This record gives sequence, structure tokens and C-alpha cells, in this order.
Amino acid sequence: MANSTVTRRLEKKLTHYIGKAIADYRLLQDGDRVLVCLSGGKDSFTLLKLLEQQRIRYRGRFELHSYTLDQGQPGWDDSSLRAWLNEHRIPFTVERRDTYSVVMEKIPEGKSYCSLCSRLRRGNIYRFAAQHGFNKIALGHHRDDLIESLLMSIFYKGELASMPPKLLTDDKRHILIRPLAYCQEKDIAAYAREMGFPIIPCNLCGSQQNLVRRRVKALISELAAENPKIPSNILAALQNIEPSQLMDRVHWNFHVLEDGRSAPARPSGGKDGILIQHVGVTEMNLAK
Ligand code: SF4
Repeated sequence: MANSTVTRRLEKKLTHYIGKAIADYRLLQDGDRVLVCLSGGKDSFTLLKLLEQQRIRYRGRFELHSYTLDQGQPGWDDSSLRAWLNEHRIPFTVERRDTYSVVMEKIPEGKSYCSLCSRLRRGNIYRFAAQHGFNKIALGHHRDDLIESLLMSIFYKGELASMPPKLLTDDKRHILIRPLAYCQEKDIAAYAREMGFPIIPCNLCGSQQNLVRRRVKALISELAAENPKIPSNILAALQNIEPSQLMDRVHWNFHVLEDGRSAPARPSGGKDGILIQHVGVTEMNLAK
């Protein structure tokens, strides 16, 4: 099944886009020790499989280690995941930390658990990476996650922000990379089906998946049905920012235009007495 023409075509396409993301954003360098977060879903399995192929292609110039967190959800069974990792000879760790009980205790009934659950999961990933000397953490977010996050940020936070392909965390201790940033979810889903990855569902906790994200996803699908280019145009917009056409006074100095100058923001206070500073992109906590 894994050698079918369909699989090869999908693999070629996904590999092309992963390679492009790696090159465009310099995601990987010689000597990197990369912790790949394998949640057990289709995205992270695809990420791990295709990064492992890249590692072999580049003769081990970087190292991969798979990390899975067993969060103590009822019905969790990682035996097939472990068997798959052993079969593919990928070094891995499955750690158990009962974050499920914490989430159940803290979140009132009827509210989504996903935000706190993701935060606790992320904390454990960072801790493990720091303890074991991994300099990069690879996450399975794809193109559709990036564009949904952008719209969610605009609609519900009043910010133009998304999930960048590469991010230095706020505490400056970790670099997150998202090699699937150019890959479409439908290709990943089809590839995961073809490959028969032993998926562990992300609903064992009984939580509704993030309702806001589902609504935004539905909106994008509706628009894409009219114009299929809309999702890729939204992604392209993330790469084509025109500060002079927006209203952000931090990133564009509107106070000097009378001098005939086009004026990118300056890193310190200027003659207008306005403090102008560059604002770093921060990781959003918009759980999938
Ligand atoms: S659906 Fe997934 S992210 Fe949300 S609470 Fe459950 S396990 Fe956590």
C-alpha cells in the first residue's frame, strides 16, 4: 500500500514543500539535535516520517528523536505507536505525565479543555528538550493551521499574527520549527491514510475540539469553494507584509512622511519623541 503511485505522488509533493520550508527559513543546520513532537495524529506522523527521510538523504547531518507525551487520558494506548517507531528504527521517548487530571480539575464542565491541555503539553516538551540537549523542537502544524491561526488572531485577538515556521521562544531557550508550513492538510490526511499510520485520536479526553477553530476552518472552506486560490493567498499574505499600507505605528513611522521620507520604524526613540521599538513575534496559544 505504501508503494502505490498515489503514495509516491503525495510523498513527492509533501517532500518538495518540506524542502522548500527548510530552505526558505533555514529550519535545519548541520549538527542540529531535533526533538520531533509525535502526538500520535496524522500531522506529526507525517512530519516524523518525512523528516526521517530527509535525515537519511542528508546522511545524518542532523539528529532526530521522537517525543510523545502520554497525558493520562482514559483509553490511551500507545502500543501501536511504539511498534511503528521500533519498526522504523527511530529513537523515541514516551513519557507519562498526568496532565489530564489537572485539566479536569481546573476547567469547568462545558468549557473546552484544549487551551490548558496544550499549554501543559508544551511545558513538558520544553522541559524534556532542555534536559536532553535538543536545540530544536519540530511541530506538525501545516499550512491550514497557519492560515486559520491568522484569521483567529484577527477576529478574536485584534492582532495580525500566526504560527511562524521558525520561532525563538520568549525565554530564548528553544527554537521551534514547523517544516510542514507549506503543506496542505488534505495532502497530509491522504498520505497518512495511504501510509496506515497508527493514529491515536485526540479526543480521548472527551473535549470538543476548539469550536472557534472549526468555525474559521469552515469559513475558509466555504470561501475556497468559490475561489480555490484563497487559502494559498492567505498564506502568501503572511509572507508579503506592507507596513506602509497598515496602521501599525510601531512598524511604520507615520510622523516623518511630511519630510518626503518613506520611513520604516526605528529601533529607538526618534526626534518625534515617540518610542519606536520592534516587537518580537510571540507564540500564540491557539490550541488546535
Ligand atoms: S482534544 Fe486534544 S488538545 Fe484538546 S483537551 Fe483533548 S487531548 Fe487535549
